[in-house]
Amino acid sequence: MPAIILKPDRDYSVSRRHPWIFSGAIDRVEGVPAPGETVEIRAADGTPLGAAAWSPESQIRARVWSFDPAEPVDAAFFERRLAAAIAGRGVLLAADTTNAFRLVNAEADGLPGVIVDRYDTHLVCQFTTTGAERWKTVIVEALARLWPCAGLYERSDADARAHEGLAASCGCLAGGEPPARIEIREHGCRFLVDVRGGHKTGFYLDQRDNRARVAPHATGGDMLNVFAYTGGFGVLALRAGAASVTHIDLSAEALALARENTRLNVCNGAADEHFIAGNAFEVLRTFRDSRRSFDVIVLDPPKFGDARKHVMAACRGYKDINLLAFKLLRPGGILATFSCSGLVTPDLFHKVVADAAVDARRDVQVLQRLQQASDHPEGLGFPEGLYLKGLLCRVS
Ligand code: SAH
Repeated sequence: MPAIILKPDRDYSVSRRHPWIFSGAIDRVEGVPAPGETVEIRAADGTPLGAAAWSPESQIRARVWSFDPAEPVDAAFFERRLAAAIAGRGVLLAADTTNAFRLVNAEADGLPGVIVDRYDTHLVCQFTTTGAERWKTVIVEALARLWPCAGLYERSDADARAHEGLAASCGCLAGGEPPARIEIREHGCRFLVDVRGGHKTGFYLDQRDNRARVAPHATGGDMLNVFAYTGGFGVLALRAGAASVTHIDLSAEALALARENTRLNVCNGAADEHFIAGNAFEVLRTFRDSRRSFDVIVLDPPKFGDARKHVMAACRGYKDINLLAFKLLRPGGILATFSCSGLVTPDLFHKVVADAAVDARRDVQVLQRLQQASDHPEGLGFPEGLYLKGLLCRVS
C-alpha cells in the first residue's frame, strides 16, 4: 500500500483523531497513489497511524478512514461504518417525528466525503471526495443491504467536488427513480421535497429542530422568513398560529414550492402569507426605508464563501443583514439568525451579530444558542463539523 510520511511533530492532529491531513503536514509520499486510493499514514519515525484516502488535488491531501493501523479498509469496513451510523439514528427513528433525516454525516460518522439522507422511501447520497468516489459502488451495495429502500439517488453536485478534481455526478444508483416530489413529515408538518432539483439533497434537514424552536415565538405575530427556500420556518410558524408570514428568497422556484408546502399544512385561504422573489439585502433595505416591522425574523442565508480569504467578506454580509433585521424588529421581537459558513466560528458569528445590534442601537438577549440537528453530529475532535450555528435573540 502506498504511504504518506508526516513531517516531524506534524502527527499531533492525527493523534488527536482529527481526520484531515493537510499538504503542509506531509513530508513525503511512498509509491504513487491514485486519487482516492487508500494510503498508510506514518509518523516521521515510521510509527503507523492508520489509513487515509489520497486526494492529490485538494489542500486536504488525505482524509483518515481509520486511526487503527490494524484495521483494513475494505468492503467490510464500509459496511461496519455504515451500520454504526444507522444505529446512531436509533433515537430519531424511535421518536418517529420525521421520516427525513441524515443517516450518514461524513467525518462525524467516520466516513469523510459520504453523506446519505433519507427522504421517506428513498435515500439520497453525496460523494464529495476522491476517497468516497472510489468506494462508491461498495458503499451503495452496503447501503442497499442495510437500509432496504425504493431507490438510491446520487446528488454529487456540491462545490466541494471541484476542489477534489471531481466532476458533478447525479442520477439513480439503485432501485427506482425518485418521484418529482417526495412528501416528508417533520414535527407534525408535511413538506414536498424535490430531491433531484432542490438544494443540497433536497431539503435543509439540519434546521429541523430550529424550525420547531422558533415557531412558538411566532404565535399571533408577523414573521419575516428571510432566505426562505421552500418555506420551512414559515410553515411551522403558521401551524403554531402566526398571524402572517412573509417569505423572501432569490429563487422563484423555491418559493413556488413554499407556497405548495403552506397549502399542504394550512387550510386554503387561512394563511396570510406573502412571497417575495428577490435579493434579501435589497428587500430588507426597502422594508427599512418604508418602516415595515415584524415580530419574528429568521435569517438563514446560504454559505457566504468557503475559503479562508472569504471570511471577512462573509462577516460583512452577516453584519449587514443582521443590522437590517434588528432595525425591522418590533419591541420584544425575536431574531433567529444563522450562519452555515464552516469558516465562521460560533464566537466570530456571535461577535458579528453583537456588532450589528450595537450599530442598530438595540439591546439584545440571547435566549438560546442554536446548531445543526443531532442527525448531523459533530466529531468531538473535529470542530469543523459544527458548520451551522445560530442565535435565538430577543430585542427589547
Ligand atoms: N431556511 C431554509 C433554508 C435556506 S437556504 C429552510 O429552512 O429550508 C438559503 C436560501 O437562500 C436558498 O433558498 C437560496 O435560494 C436563498 N438565497 C441565496 N442568496 C440569496 C439572496 N441574496 N437573497 C435572497 N435569497 C437568497
